[in-house]
Amino acid sequence: MESDKAIAVVSTKGAARWAAGHPWIYKTDVLTAPRRGPGIVAVHDRRGAFLGQALFSPRSEIRLRLLTVHDRPIDAAWWRFHIAACAARREGLPATAYRVVHGEGDGLPSLVIDRYGPYVVAQLLSAGLETVRADVLEGIRGALEPRGILLRHDTAVRRHEELPLDVELVHGEVPDAVEVREGEVRYLAAPRHGQKTGAFLDQRENRLLVAALARPGGRALDVFTYHGSFALQLARAAGAVLAIDQSREALERAAQNAALNGLGTITWREANAFDFLRTLERARERFDTVVLDPPAFAKTRASLPRAIAGYKEINLRAMRLLAPAACCSPPPAHITCSDPSFSTCWPTPVGTAGAASSCCGSPGPRRTTRRS
Ligand code: SAH
Repeated sequence: MESDKAIAVVSTKGAARWAAGHPWIYKTDVLTAPRRGPGIVAVHDRRGAFLGQALFSPRSEIRLRLLTVHDRPIDAAWWRFHIAACAARREGLPATAYRVVHGEGDGLPSLVIDRYGPYVVAQLLSAGLETVRADVLEGIRGALEPRGILLRHDTAVRRHEELPLDVELVHGEVPDAVEVREGEVRYLAAPRHGQKTGAFLDQRENRLLVAALARPGGRALDVFTYHGSFALQLARAAGAVLAIDQSREALERAAQNAALNGLGTITWREANAFDFLRTLERARERFDTVVLDPPAFAKTRASLPRAIAGYKEINLRAMRLLAPAACCSPPPAHITCSDPSFSTCWPTPVGTAGAASSCCGSPGPRRTTRRS
């Protein structure tokens, strides 16, 4: 099989990277690129030894993404088997909306598959993967048997791969709003028009954690609430919740979600978080639980210093709003902010605020790399 496949030859450094478990090989470590467009290619080291098969992206800095170290055909059955294995790993989660395939973390690089009840929203995020779209979709249908599959390809990372940005229904039907359950809470996800693939599924575990930590009957603040997902969880324990977002549209959906759960203790406020935190501080308001879940402030390396300053500011203000012995959930470490300086966002404000409070939770997705 290997003989009819295009071959990429990689440097010793690139080969060592793979051997160490990293699924990517960058442009600079590809000694001989296959003379063809994107697709699945065989990868050899400089001595001609077969290393595996990878998705090849001729335009991206990430040229090769390892799919398998085996030399077997990668067809619809292969995708079906691996997607089904991912689904099996997540069976029994206390939610009906969750990420089934986490791309690289699940050994299926550049593939994201989210489940919203009986519907699937997927993202094929590399040029190599796009060439095998039909097989991947067949694999999804076989493994998950969804009522519909929507491709949310309106995400900027596809630009790095010179792929078009669009939203496409490729199987069955997917409604604008899908009611899902997360723990004891129900909410309406928005697969077609919502942010990401319709909800911030990456915060699912953190939302349940925060709800468990909230002081029963206490006062909670959810900053950057979007559709109210943290606020809904908090409202099940806290006596009163104040939730802030700058998007009126997001807050309208949040209020709908509260009604869906019969929760009448949440106050929704349309405001700029930076200004509003300042106002709350001036008014000497106090909360037993504060959740900060901002968007990624740093989209590029150049914007990092400003982003760090932004994180510091909201963290500092949040700490000042905390009642003694209260709990504050820090923002997740966004990928562009994995710089060591990100950690400086916390100690300084905590020290400055002098609050006798704690920073709880372990935000951010867990990552594992598996090889098929
Ligand atoms: N906590 C949410 C996800 C938050 S996404 C969840 O778990 O589902 C980030 C949100 O921050 C978006 O809804 C966006 O509208 C809001 N946002 C971005 N900048 C803001 C600002 N300066 N002030 C208030 N809200 C802001």
